[in-house]
Amino acid sequence: MTFHIISLFPEAFDSYLEESIIGRAIGKKKIKVKFYNPRDSLKASASGYKATDDKPYGGGPGMVMLAEPILRAALRAKSNIKKSRSKEVKVETIIFSPGGKQFTNTLGRQWAKKYDHLILICGRYEGIDDRVRKILEAQEISIGDYVLTGGELPAMVVLDAMSRQIPGVLGKLESVEEGRVSSHEVYTRPEVLEWPPKMAQGKQKKYQVPKVLLSGHHAKINKWRGGK
Ligand code: SAH
Repeated sequence: MTFHIISLFPEAFDSYLEESIIGRAIGKKKIKVKFYNPRDSLKASASGYKATDDKPYGGGPGMVMLAEPILRAALRAKSNIKKSRSKEVKVETIIFSPGGKQFTNTLGRQWAKKYDHLILICGRYEGIDDRVRKILEAQEISIGDYVLTGGELPAMVVLDAMSRQIPGVLGKLESVEEGRVSSHEVYTRPEVLEWPPKMAQGKQKKYQVPKVLLSGHHAKINKWRGGK
């Protein structure tokens, strides 16, 4: 899967994409990430505009991202996709919007199956001129019922959630939630945690790992996990 991210702030992704599992996934070429900045479209601008945003028609606060710089960025992504392979590839375009359809693991899995490339368009300010959505036939996606200052975090959320479903990205494939009984309640060493520390104030208590997890009895463990 290749993620083509259209964003005015590509540097916002740097540290996250370098870390840990996602960093390794990129290193191992399990996923690819490419950036296109609408600002880089300005030289070619047909309308002669030298900005990426302007006041909203009809009035109202804030600024709206112009269609053309984003459309040109999408053209660059699409020509990159064409160059990358000769056989036909499946591409989907997504615009992040708090009013869009809710992103879920199920949706991410469907995309991973159906598409080779995702073009993710990150809005800023009051959003994106809606003609971008119409022209690119993009779907609008929200990551949750709250409003953020930009689509960069949503793009990272989608990239992260989808990447961990791709075989070979997690250390062990079994870590993927499907195909095993998963639990949100997890424990590791030690078996008994004594807290607070002896030197600290307050009475020390013992916190024990649920016995069933130490039993080695997989059927029972699965039942316990499934029951959560
Ligand atoms: N006034 C706009 C809010 C724009 S928020 C409105 O009511 O729709 C600025 C940008 O941040 C949006 O264009 C979108 O790309 C992104 N964004 C903010 N919250 C989001 C969310 N919950 N899910 C997806 N994208 C979001």
